[in-house]
Amino acid sequence: MTESKTVVIIGAGPAGCVAAAILQNKGHQVCIIERELFPRFSIGESLLPQCMEFIEQAGMLQAVEQAGFQLKTGAAFLHQDRLSEFCFADKFTQGFDSTYQVQRDRFDALLASEAERMGVEIRWQQSVLEADFSTAKPLLTIATAEQKQYQLEADFVLDASGFGRVLPRLLKLEKASDFPCRQSLFTHLQDGIDDVQYNRDKIRIIVHPEHRDVWYWLIPFSNGRCSLGVVAEPMFFQSIGDDIEQVFRELVGQEPGLAKLLANARYDTSVNSIKGYSADVTRLYGEGYALLGNAGEFLDPVFSSGVTIAMKSASLAAAVLDKQLSGQQVNWQQEFVEPLQKGVETFRSFVTAWYAGDLQDVVFFDRQQSNIKAMICSILAGYVWDENNPYVKNSKARLKTLAELCREY
Ligand SMILES: Cc1cc2nc3c(=O)[nH]c(=O)nc-3n(C[C@H](O)[C@H](O)[C@H](O)COP(=O)(O)OP(=O)(O)OC[C@H]3O[C@@H](n4cnc5c(N)ncnc54)[C@H](O)[C@@H]3O)c2cc1C
Repeated sequence: MTESKTVVIIGAGPAGCVAAAILQNKGHQVCIIERELFPRFSIGESLLPQCMEFIEQAGMLQAVEQAGFQLKTGAAFLHQDRLSEFCFADKFTQGFDSTYQVQRDRFDALLASEAERMGVEIRWQQSVLEADFSTAKPLLTIATAEQKQYQLEADFVLDASGFGRVLPRLLKLEKASDFPCRQSLFTHLQDGIDDVQYNRDKIRIIVHPEHRDVWYWLIPFSNGRCSLGVVAEPMFFQSIGDDIEQVFRELVGQEPGLAKLLANARYDTSVNSIKGYSADVTRLYGEGYALLGNAGEFLDPVFSSGVTIAMKSASLAAAVLDKQLSGQQVNWQQEFVEPLQKGVETFRSFVTAWYAGDLQDVVFFDRQQSNIKAMICSILAGYVWDENNPYVKNSKARLKTLAELCREY
């Protein structure tokens, strides 16, 4: 007889673990199928305060707070000699004022072990190969580490497979993103930063001195190491060279502030590249399934929104699924897709305005009004679902007007 579970989740990343913990704590039997063995590397190390609410909802706040991750209290933007800092404590929306900068191998392993502690079963090193939604109940074909295959039936499947995008591929739900193809080169290094003015508790976003659509991230960890990355369109990297190690070092050298800050750095880890990560789908749910986190849509890394959106989607989907499994009527469009998309659209407007230059004009404007800065700060803290914030509701039009005003003065 085919084995059966109530909820099967594909992937034990932040989306999968948060959804699993919430559902398990509501009394449902949850099984996660995870391809890798944790700890495993993942990009996406800078969290946003908003995601702390979902971590709390999942019952994992204490574990995260006690793990010794680097505290994050804001974001600092640098272009040439202009430094603009945002402190989350000054944000417009009520809520968490801080979060963490995390090595994702440790962070994801912590969330997974918390989920297991709550009773979630995680089947490590197993991969979902096929999914059949034409049968009475969804049926997954799974491969084990020993290359054996078996079938698992579920009342409902949540796809939290991130860039694995299992159901979008198998059910042909893939849709091209609105954003152009961009690429990131990144590494971890011993940063050796000894500048006393430098604040490790803020992510630093640095705009290339000459190319405004090229930017770097510097995310310090609590152990003297940091994550360093640079984002540009692939043609830009190609114009510099073919060897990504050399291209990366060349680009660090092109930004005098960054080069100075990292003068004592020890580059001890190879440079990695990821390209064409922005992705979308034609639908976020169907009969017997819903897509969470990056398995649904991924926008862009610039505002560190990925984990927050992943956890928000997990929180919304877990609430709808709990109702559905309890026999209540649910409407996935109204209760999952629409509320999720409101915040995603706000981030989309901010990402678009960043690459168009409008948001950079706002961020680097030297006479920012404190009330407006507080509203922008809320978005940077991930509070993009707070409709009391005018920059959530009409973000596109408001950002355009604000940028024009900043340019006039
Ligand atoms: C360059 C770059 C920089 C980024 N920086 C940030 C940042 O600073 N902050 C931030 O919040 N976000 C950032 N992100 C985004 C972030 O990486 C993701 O949004 C986040 O990890 C999504 O979480 P998830 O749970 O949806 O998926 P993941 O964390 O990717 O987890 C998916 C899991 O599914 C498993 N899986 C995949 N396929 C299968 C399969 N067939 N069977 C079983 N298991 C499977 C994988 O092994 C993985 O463990 C960045 C992204 C990029 C590209």
